[in-house]
Amino acid sequence: MTRIAVLGSTNMDLVAYVTTAPRSGETVTGHEFRTAPGGKGANQAVAAARAGADVAMIGAVGTDDFGDQLRTALEHAGVDIDLLRTTEGPSGTAHIVVDGDGGNAIVVIPGANGSLTSLCHADRALIAEAQSLLLQLELPMSAVLAGAETARRNGVRTILTPAPAPAQPLPCELLAVTDLLVPNEHEAATLTGVSGDPERAARALLADVPEVVITLGARGCLYASRAQPEPVAVLAPPVTAVDTTGAGDTFVGTLAVALGEGRPMTDALTWASAAAALSVQRPGAATSMPYRAEIDA
Ligand code: ADP
Repeated sequence: MTRIAVLGSTNMDLVAYVTTAPRSGETVTGHEFRTAPGGKGANQAVAAARAGADVAMIGAVGTDDFGDQLRTALEHAGVDIDLLRTTEGPSGTAHIVVDGDGGNAIVVIPGANGSLTSLCHADRALIAEAQSLLLQLELPMSAVLAGAETARRNGVRTILTPAPAPAQPLPCELLAVTDLLVPNEHEAATLTGVSGDPERAARALLADVPEVVITLGARGCLYASRAQPEPVAVLAPPVTAVDTTGAGDTFVGTLAVALGEGRPMTDALTWASAAAALSVQRPGAATSMPYRAEIDA
């Protein structure tokens, strides 16, 4: 079984459904409220576990009730949480307003995630034994960098999701130890300054990393590598989307499993696209992620 380590965030998603999102100074009455375990790290961990990998998560939850719920959700998904810390204070939370058109606006409060600034010996040992390390940008950069450097030293493939879109350029040290970068279209534009032309953005990103996949929502994804710089498109299966939250995390978690199993990149991208297309047809992030048999089918 493929072993995947995830170094990333766990957040409780607090979701308010409204017809029209409030502007500053305005109060609106919404029609529904839901809580759901989330965080880009935890979501990718659940996606990879459901897709059939042996997954361990390095992260932190708080001492509040959300911390217990986040821990339990990962455990139920079959994710190894031995290295998930509990730190004094609140867990990470994501405050999400979903409007009537399905658009959303999100405030993330890092909480316990912000306490994970460095790695311990056990974290490094776990990363060293994995086939891939999944990283995002919802933990302090010092930890993300330490994880990626540990992976590189041990020949472990690093897969970085540059989300949320960084306000500053990514540190060169991080890009230097990234094997595969998987931005969505918006993140790719932020990183390169090239918008509306994902082919050009993909080629530009190859200056920083050896392989890149830009996800394009319902239009699928683009893959480019230094060995094959002309981007290759993989179409998304045509489906009716009801909730695209977590589509990118489903895609990355599943892609990591396929690559870990030694599948060629185009097969892996097709499999990940099938998984993400299944997830957008159901509500929620982690709850909508498909199991291996469904993806194969
Ligand atoms: P993110 O969720 O990070 O914003 P995208 O919106 O690009 O990322 O979606 C990630 C992947 O999920 C896409 O590359 C595609 O495979 C799949 N996907 C997203 N939206 C749809 C959709 N409406 N129909 C089919 N597949 C989708």
